[in-house]
Amino acid sequence: MNGRNVFWLVVMAGALLWSSVAVADEGEEESELEVFIHEVVEGETAGLIALQHEVHINDLMEWNEMASIYDIEPGMEIRILIDPEADEAPQPRARVHVVRSGDTFESIARRYGVRTSQVQRWNTGVDPRRIQIGQRIMLNIPGNDGRSISWGRANSGRLFNGVQMEDSPGLRVRNPDRSYGTERVVNLLAAAIADVRGHWPDAPKLVMGSLSTRNGGRLRPHRSHQSGRDADVTYYHRGNVELPDFRDMSPVMFDAAKNWHLFKTLIDTEQVQFIFVDYALQEQLYEYAQSIGYTEEELEPILQYPRARRTPEGLIRHARGHRNHFHIRFTCGPIDQDCR
Ligand SMILES: [Zn+2]
Repeated sequence: MNGRNVFWLVVMAGALLWSSVAVADEGEEESELEVFIHEVVEGETAGLIALQHEVHINDLMEWNEMASIYDIEPGMEIRILIDPEADEAPQPRARVHVVRSGDTFESIARRYGVRTSQVQRWNTGVDPRRIQIGQRIMLNIPGNDGRSISWGRANSGRLFNGVQMEDSPGLRVRNPDRSYGTERVVNLLAAAIADVRGHWPDAPKLVMGSLSTRNGGRLRPHRSHQSGRDADVTYYHRGNVELPDFRDMSPVMFDAAKNWHLFKTLIDTEQVQFIFVDYALQEQLYEYAQSIGYTEEELEPILQYPRARRTPEGLIRHARGHRNHFHIRFTCGPIDQDCR
């Protein structure tokens, strides 16, 4: 999406008074993007605006010819290109596979990244033992309309039309091959991290570890990370120390203010299922949050601490192996399918 938008923006430069812009999709489809004007209010960062509209911070900067995320001020009008149909339920569009020599329902399912049982369901009149060369097999593959979709469970799912996370303000992507998520997840993460940079220009860059592979599915050594809704990211280190990679973090190294801000910003989108954070680090978050005025009652749904580390409560909770990074899982999005 990013590249295409940028391309069309160049083409449309100076003509953005138009209320909508036709953008060619990868295939023959055309979708209409609408220009929405966001007026900046006091205290808003570019990241927060991207977060509110669920667009990519890099796109937002391109659309507005911003050289940095600090090129905004209250009263300024920010252009946002949005797809008005973005949240509408996808129309399943059939794709046809013409049977070739050696094809079976299993091999067709594997080829398109779906399950054999689905191929059977979409072709109830076809006997799988008697398919013939040239026969047409219908495939209602998720994401046929080009939108990125998380499908199935995080532990056994897939990703359709995954969007690759790229470097963005305050973020460095370690392994691009393992950095695909749904467009929504990628946009939310990049925006929230840019928002931290908006508040603390000296904030170090975080390192993005694994999200999912391009089409999702098994990503060793993880059990989850299969459907484009999970991400591993480093913590903010105190003193704005920039970490080259994942490094174990002790409570004294942990920058509670920035980490709290990042987590709370993401949680406020109401699209976070949980964030795994080491128990010892949670104590730092808890104390910091209280120091800026949060009450015990307010913190109860957010943090597992001070409950015991095995208590499965609080959006931020302990899981082993999260001393050097946090793991965030996003909730199922409005267009995700069979998502659990
Ligand atoms: Zn993880």
